[in-house]
Amino acid sequence: MATAFQEEVAARGMEIFRRMADASPALFERTWWAGKVLDAVMANPRLKVQLFRFIDVFPVLTTAEEVAAHLREYFGAEPELPDLLRMLVTAASGPGAAVSAAILRRNIGSVARTFIAGETPERALAPLRKLRERGRDFTVDLLGETALSEEEAARYQERYLALAAFLAGETRGWRSGAPGRERLFPPLNLSVKLSSLFSRIGPQNYEESVALSRERLRPVFRAAREAGGFVNLDMEMYSLKNITLDVYTGLLDEPEFRDWDGAGIALQAYLTDTFADLERLVAWARERRRRFTVRLVKGAYWEYETVTAGQKGWPLPVFAEKSHTDWNYERCAELMLASGDCLTPAFGTHNVRSLAFVMATAAGRGISRDEYEFQMLYGMAEPVKDALAALSCPVREYAPIGELLPGMAYLVRRLLENTSNEGFLRKTFVDRVSREALLAPPRPWSGAPPPVAAESPAPFANEPPLDFSAATVRTGFREALARVRGSFGRQYPVVIGGEEFAGNDGFESVNPAAPEEVVGRFACCDRELAGRGVAAALAYRGGWEKKGVEERASILFRAAALARNRRLELAAWEVFETGKGWGEADADVAEAIDYLEYYGREALRLLRPRRLGDAPGEENRYFHQPRGVGVVIAPWNFPLAISAGMTAAALVAGNAVIYKPSSLSAATGWQLFALLREAGVPDGVLNFVPGRGEEVGNSLVEHPDVAFVAFTGSREVGLAIVEGAGRTRPGQRLVKRVIAEMGGKNAIIVDTDADLDAAIPGVILSAFGYAGQKCSACSRVVVLAGCYERFMARLAEAVRSVAVGPAEDPASFVGPVIDGRAKEKILGYIELGSREGRLAAQGKAPAGGNYVPPSVLADLPPGSRLLREEIFGPVLAVVQVRDMEEALAVANDSEYALTGGLYSRSPASIARAREAFRVGNLYINRPITGALVGRQPFGGFRLSGVGAKAGGPDYLLQFTEPRLVTENTLRRGFTPEQAG
Ligand code: NAD
Repeated sequence: MATAFQEEVAARGMEIFRRMADASPALFERTWWAGKVLDAVMANPRLKVQLFRFIDVFPVLTTAEEVAAHLREYFGAEPELPDLLRMLVTAASGPGAAVSAAILRRNIGSVARTFIAGETPERALAPLRKLRERGRDFTVDLLGETALSEEEAARYQERYLALAAFLAGETRGWRSGAPGRERLFPPLNLSVKLSSLFSRIGPQNYEESVALSRERLRPVFRAAREAGGFVNLDMEMYSLKNITLDVYTGLLDEPEFRDWDGAGIALQAYLTDTFADLERLVAWARERRRRFTVRLVKGAYWEYETVTAGQKGWPLPVFAEKSHTDWNYERCAELMLASGDCLTPAFGTHNVRSLAFVMATAAGRGISRDEYEFQMLYGMAEPVKDALAALSCPVREYAPIGELLPGMAYLVRRLLENTSNEGFLRKTFVDRVSREALLAPPRPWSGAPPPVAAESPAPFANEPPLDFSAATVRTGFREALARVRGSFGRQYPVVIGGEEFAGNDGFESVNPAAPEEVVGRFACCDRELAGRGVAAALAYRGGWEKKGVEERASILFRAAALARNRRLELAAWEVFETGKGWGEADADVAEAIDYLEYYGREALRLLRPRRLGDAPGEENRYFHQPRGVGVVIAPWNFPLAISAGMTAAALVAGNAVIYKPSSLSAATGWQLFALLREAGVPDGVLNFVPGRGEEVGNSLVEHPDVAFVAFTGSREVGLAIVEGAGRTRPGQRLVKRVIAEMGGKNAIIVDTDADLDAAIPGVILSAFGYAGQKCSACSRVVVLAGCYERFMARLAEAVRSVAVGPAEDPASFVGPVIDGRAKEKILGYIELGSREGRLAAQGKAPAGGNYVPPSVLADLPPGSRLLREEIFGPVLAVVQVRDMEEALAVANDSEYALTGGLYSRSPASIARAREAFRVGNLYINRPITGALVGRQPFGGFRLSGVGAKAGGPDYLLQFTEPRLVTENTLRRGFTPEQAG
């Protein structure tokens, strides 16, 4: 029902529409090249994806041939191309390639120039002046590549300060409306993004991110204040939202800025958190009796937030429906206008309904048009801006300055916004939705939908990672670290058949960051005890098998629930015992939970008896029995997840298990054992046998009653196990099965047209995450000559910015390596590589502890050990190649075949890699570590392993023996079916 207020909003909206007359924004003008192409893509979503991807890669295509190849790859197979594009694609295949490339360059350049004020501050000056002449204000933003290193961040800050100084000089004397207005809205107005100022910014190292971002921003604030200008902190991804808010309020609380009103912050109405954030900011300012500015926008990363939350299994931080964002925008706008005592409001929107709502609300409160402002993006929605000017409403334009390449992400965001089905501009200027519909009040949001009632068991879903941007999570993690540290040095027994044994010998596990800290002391299982373990397992396995698959699966589900409750503590054990950083340790715990949940469901799917075939007079029953007694031998590098995966699969299939954790991570192994026991795995069905690999491992593997070995670890030990288990010993009545997951020498290929903003962090994460101690880690990067120089320059700087330090400090990206032996071995490789080739870049490592600086080696001779052997440390070898075929040949030239990766924006290269890059897990345009259970089943071939992929649909059956029973049901000429 339209209230008087809604009528007023509608009337103001109609007024704006009337003033807009029939004008269209330049971008949509069909007489214009871009207008025509955009028109076509709006009717064809597939073409839109292709076009925007092409525009995204375009700036790095340096030759006409590259442009022609990409045109063909992106559009060659498109049946419905707009004529102009068709012409260019055809021309690109022949002698017209150079002309076609030039035309494209000109046109894409001119689209970009619609949205970008100039490539440099000097060039932007004329357009900014023109804006002033038309009575518009501006805020400038420096487009920057993602800061991948501290050098890049420092350069950005310098450029930013130079921009501020330049504009301060040039704009001196520029007026900005009435004198009172100028105080609230100075003509010199800058916008800045934190992600460009600190390369390691992120929620896990929250405190460091806040502190260093403040440090970088402080001189920018000072420069603006001294020039009588204004700085607005832009809001980016949701993961940086709390950091941005803390940086902002913290900096303004510093004595030197306490009396300064010249800093504002952007808030995004599409976030469900924003209203509460706004309330907090208002309270903060009121308490301090200060003034601050908020720019309220809708938010430009909706697709990114939706995809990211979906991938992580996190609640959606944004409203799912556009209308709810519009509703929230109005709610926030109302609060802003009601807080005029401390808040100066700026409204960033092109939506006529939102504009009219603000104007009507302000008028209702007696707020004059000089006390708030509208902001719109440079190059967009000109008719709306003109209409507002005609109504004497001040408009400020958000005008980016920068080159095309770093500006591409910005340009694609703008194109998406202009062409989005839900976007106001498209609805207004293209779809010509009725004005009444456009001005209707948005639908209010009625809160998050209730969770869907879970069936039993609910379909498998990966355990979401922790969100470190929440203060409660960070505090909880710190408390868990303190609790676990309090339990250091405990004595753990061997447990066989429920009985505890102290053993004749013992060993310790220590904190690799401070080897003098003993994490746990363990009884050592010897040959004799190992034999007892097998006997106990044999004795108990029958009862376990009889329990049935449902009960066994429900025990795994219970164990998953217990692990969830103890999540922080489990992660804390890993931090101390194996040197995993917070995020890595949490991911390992989440993966362990995933295995318990996934194999429980897989057992229910696979292990119930089935009938096969439907011939009359015959019944075929197909079912699986457990193999018997199995040994699980686990590594230290994923101390909970890999142990949990192998053990849970063996148990749920009905086997009894002797579990040998790595002696380097036996305390974490004990946590898993305790968890499974508590969840209901009976004594004897699971036995805990810490000990030295060669002794206990060998005797178990060779024991005649052991039916299978599930092993994950090094190739050397894995192959010895395969060999040892292959020999049949006296008394042995079965052929042992070995499932062995072993090492890797994994490569990432970086194509000429790769997006280096993604490829460099992807390579760094894959090569140096957990100090390179992952079987999936990247240890070779194969770079095409076309981007080698660019890649190496940025990679080297990024490597120097990697933070190395103790894993318990969340600011460390690379922790210690596992022990002194590993350290010596890795340093040996670095030395060898420096002699044979060149140390191209190296990070810094603290003294003491088992730290190794992240190192990049280049110009190695073919056949170098650094290109062939698994190093298992933060060492990356770079190989330069001519083209994609050579890259694939180099990448495939290995005895291993575990993971691999490709960064490319060429559809042809991607297709070729899919076919010819032969590894167990190939990842395209993303890091090559971090496989998720059920989504990326994991495992390799060649000397990387034997057996089905862990976390995949074939894994569980390896722990069973399939049986078939056929009964002839025909007796005396009739069958039960006939009788029925
Ligand atoms: P490792 O081979 O040294 O040890 C693995 C396990 O085997 C430990 O529990 C160890 O005590 C035991 N062991 C050692 N000697 C033995 C013997 N003679 N008989 C039986 N057991 C014995 O490996 P690690 O250092 O713990 O782990 C790192 C290795 O694991 C790397 O090579 C890595 O690539 C590999 N890994 C592979 C995967 C995968 O899924 N493919 C996953 C993680 C780790």
